[in-house]
Amino acid sequence: MSTAVKPKVHNYSAGPCILPQQVFEQASQAVLDFQGTGMSILEMSHRSKPIEEVMNKARDLVKELLGAPDHYEVVFLGGGASMGFHMVPLNYQKPGGKSAYANTGEWATRAVKEGRLAGETLVVASSEDKNFNYIPKGFAIPDDVDYFHITTNNTIFGTQYKAFPKTKVPMLCDMSSDIFSRPVNVSDFALIYGGAQKNMGPAGATVYLFDPEKLGHTGRKLSPMMDLKNHAAKDSMYNTPPVYAVYVSMLTLEWLKSIGGVAEAEKRNQAKAELLYGTIDRLPIFEGTTAVEDRSAMNATFVLKDSALEPAFDALWKEAGISGIRGHRSVGGYRASMYNALPIDSVKVLTEVMEEFAKKNG
Ligand SMILES: *Cc1c(COP(=O)(O)O)cnc(C)c1O
Repeated sequence: MSTAVKPKVHNYSAGPCILPQQVFEQASQAVLDFQGTGMSILEMSHRSKPIEEVMNKARDLVKELLGAPDHYEVVFLGGGASMGFHMVPLNYQKPGGKSAYANTGEWATRAVKEGRLAGETLVVASSEDKNFNYIPKGFAIPDDVDYFHITTNNTIFGTQYKAFPKTKVPMLCDMSSDIFSRPVNVSDFALIYGGAQKNMGPAGATVYLFDPEKLGHTGRKLSPMMDLKNHAAKDSMYNTPPVYAVYVSMLTLEWLKSIGGVAEAEKRNQAKAELLYGTIDRLPIFEGTTAVEDRSAMNATFVLKDSALEPAFDALWKEAGISGIRGHRSVGGYRASMYNALPIDSVKVLTEVMEEFAKKNG
């Protein structure tokens, strides 16, 4: 192994994504010797006491950091948010009932598709008419649906709800890419779920935070693996949980708590977003791709007005140690993902590269 310290990459990857450096160090140590047990965390039974403690601590931190009501439950499952698209309708939609979705991007579109497998699914709002570059507002949500589903942050298109719709029916949300990035009022949601790899930890764990009182009323017969109530009753240990992914998520949440929780994360994320969007708006060769009021603090999407300049710009940011800002294929251009662990110094490096490039090419 080389001992030379390489400069840290400015990692703007959309997910899996940057995590705090101290988490990488703690996670490495746990693989070699977990808490002085002489065993690797990777070889320990999930029924052993130290792992039970990890699972419980991770579940407690989710609730504590988000300020969830006491009776809410947390489980960590595999399958990604994508499996959530399938599980959610099964747990909340009555056979013969209806559900409502807001379609604000590619992940929301997938959620709608899976909703349709379970029964009648209404799309009550959509921004597909403008390639999902805004958040629809002021739409009506029928009172006779079993639930309403939103995607709080649209990772690919770079939009984010700044206020949530008011509903009389249970509101369920895919919060994969902005969970723990800002305070939310958890009791507004009957269910919050998300893949860990966007802001909370490594790929492999999916978190479900829910009000158990709003579950189990559909009359559907479910496989125990698809039944959120079952997983909660078994303390997220119905089958072998993704232990290591949960452990690294727990470390990331401990880090988040140590810096001041989601309120401090929001402050930092706002500062990063203001710096980057301010630069995009000030430099005429760049252009943001989304409605200004709906801009995501997590994923900033922008283009060079003259796309012929892209190869030269790409060379410049790569040279500065920046990684992962090419846009998703469905949008093109650039996407800078600024999750909790991305330091503002990385955003300074990117904005300086943009300034320098604009000076040469403006
Ligand atoms: C990445 C992402 C998903 C898909 O997550 P997987 O864990 O890969 O299944 C779903 N929703 C949103 C908002 C995402 O950003």
